[in-house]
Amino acid sequence: MTSEISTSHPLPSYLNPNDLGAWGIYLQQIDRVTPYLGSLSRWVETLKRPKRSLIVDVPVELDNGTIAHFEGYRVQHNTSRGPGKGGVRFHQDVCLAEVMALAAWMSIKNAAVNLPFGGAKGGIRIDARKYSKKELERVTRRYTSEIGLIIGPTKDIPAPDVNTSPQTMAWMMDTYSMNEGATATGVVTGKPISLGGSLGRVEATGRGVFVAACEAAKDLGLSVSGSRVAVQGFGNVGGTAARLFHETGAKVVAIQDHTGTIHNENGINIHDLLNYVEDHAGIMGFTEAAAISNEDFWSVSSDFLIPAALESQITIKNADQIKTKILVEGANGPTTPEADDILTRKGVYIVPDVISNAGGVTVSYFEWVQDFSSFFWSEEEINQRLERLMRDAYRSVSNVAKHHQVSLRTAAFIVACTRILEAREVRGLYP
Ligand code: NAD
Repeated sequence: MTSEISTSHPLPSYLNPNDLGAWGIYLQQIDRVTPYLGSLSRWVETLKRPKRSLIVDVPVELDNGTIAHFEGYRVQHNTSRGPGKGGVRFHQDVCLAEVMALAAWMSIKNAAVNLPFGGAKGGIRIDARKYSKKELERVTRRYTSEIGLIIGPTKDIPAPDVNTSPQTMAWMMDTYSMNEGATATGVVTGKPISLGGSLGRVEATGRGVFVAACEAAKDLGLSVSGSRVAVQGFGNVGGTAARLFHETGAKVVAIQDHTGTIHNENGINIHDLLNYVEDHAGIMGFTEAAAISNEDFWSVSSDFLIPAALESQITIKNADQIKTKILVEGANGPTTPEADDILTRKGVYIVPDVISNAGGVTVSYFEWVQDFSSFFWSEEEINQRLERLMRDAYRSVSNVAKHHQVSLRTAAFIVACTRILEAREVRGLYP
């Protein structure tokens, strides 16, 4: 009887089927993994639609007295395994379909590394560079108040993402606390240390990238010490990962940032470069390496290539040029699906973002736990726990990849979707 009145539609009605963007890529990834989910595949439709999507109007008085309106979003993709968790992005191109995809990838990442969270993401469609600090504070506070209906330390815990910072989190925490009438440090992570932030959070993603790279090297019988590394992006993630490689005796031979690309066959002294970048806001002009073209970066021969800048950097345009053994994704979505196929055919071993850049959300989890217990751990303790969790996550995904003879990306999705759907099944459907 129920089959005759089935009302499941392949897409939520509010999406344009001709312009799905990142959400379309995510749906393809779910289709690719469905054959491996066994009897749990009957629940797979639950992963193809977010649990809850909130669109809010954010009206703000600007410094010149005019009123501006911005569109804000908070999407909770899945909360079967725990409260929603994921960042808040301020960007002029943010749209609902993008926030849905980012929320869904957080569900996958959190489940792949076995954190007790679901996936969520938020954003405001705003070009943050055009507004003063006071205007951004008002935008953040009004947005927080509007999404206050669905966030909370046990409901959904935002964190920083593109163009948001520990200061943004401090404003969000303060606004939520004022509305609740109680100081709620655990409502956001990535906070300043003075507000219950965690030691080790700033370096956590780069450190996790390095740990994942070391595990992959073990699988391929490669020594990290003495290896050659190329890094795109020399910010929080790329800079930390490059420093850890350098300190382990690897040679970082090429680096690219928004100012250009530098190359030194004998290895770049990363400590000197970090000092240089602090004074010059970019790597160009650093005299201990030669400037090369941005295109040539991709053909530098390396053992590890770490894209740690932006999404969609490795595409059909440059995938063929790449000469590396292990690609460890520091950025979110740096490799397009077509480029992924080309690299896989070429025998490049790819450690996917949902595993390799999970160090940040892992230490966010530690921050949340510390806030709940009001007991704070040393940086050494945090780094040890982070490394253990990242190693365990990598190992379980690598074992599944070997078992099914699939890529690490597909294996990470198998592990994550299985965990989410097992939780879904055992909870059952309400009512
Ligand atoms: P960041 O702003 O600290 O650094 C970004 C770096 O990328 C800078 O060195 C910048 O010069 C470089 N860059 C920007 N545009 C570029 C271009 N067109 N070509 C080459 N380089 C360019 O940012 P981050 O926190 O290091 O984040 C980097 C990536 O990692 C992003 O995709 C982010 O979403 C992802 N990520 C970050 C975290 C985290 O905890 N910071 C966690 C997970 C994923």
